[in-house]
Amino acid sequence: NKFEDFGIQDEILKALEGLRYLHPTKVQEEVIPAVLAGKDIIVQSQTGSGKTASYGIPLCADIDWEENRPQALILVPTRELATQVKEDIMNIGRLKRIKATAVYGKAKFAIQKSELKQKSHIVVGTPGRVLEHLQEGTMKVDKIRYLVLDEADEMLNMGFIEQVEAIIDFLPKERQTLLFSATMPSKIERLATFYMKPDKLSVK
Ligand code: AMP
Repeated sequence: NKFEDFGIQDEILKALEGLRYLHPTKVQEEVIPAVLAGKDIIVQSQTGSGKTASYGIPLCADIDWEENRPQALILVPTRELATQVKEDIMNIGRLKRIKATAVYGKAKFAIQKSELKQKSHIVVGTPGRVLEHLQEGTMKVDKIRYLVLDEADEMLNMGFIEQVEAIIDFLPKERQTLLFSATMPSKIERLATFYMKPDKLSVK
């Protein structure tokens, strides 16, 4: 169980060494190969399991640096988590010079708009503000190949599900969708059946 065994780029492996991620966690062992194989997955796992890197690593490995428009969209329930995930992604992608942008409410729309105009490989955001950017045309989605729904049950609890669905309707149909949730209420199950062709991974 080594990161080397996944066949990911040296630049990512070196960055993981720098972060002192010496061995993949259980969730990373399951999720990384599934994402690299192009699967849609539903992952039932808790925070603290290393789930951010479980999708951050394969996403960063697959980002095309030359492409300026966002290639991955990560939806999260809170501003704090958006900032945290952005930091984690930038650390994992540091040697590839991957650019992540966080967009969330109660922060200046105009600043986010100009960030999104520049190179932005991965966008991490809360549903309300992401939807606003889509409706205003300030975030391009034609190059999106990955959608991550992180803490999907929390997004449901906070009343964001309709916004999440409206966002999904803007995205290219040809994409990979990864859903992470600590619990699996029926509304999340239904969302998954409607928008994904998932393989279920339950990692405790
Ligand atoms: P998360 O579940 O994504 O919130 O991650 C929990 C913590 O584990 C974070 O502080 C990560 O930096 C750390 N972490 C993630 N993957 C690894 C790993 N393979 N080895 C050591 N620490 C890790």
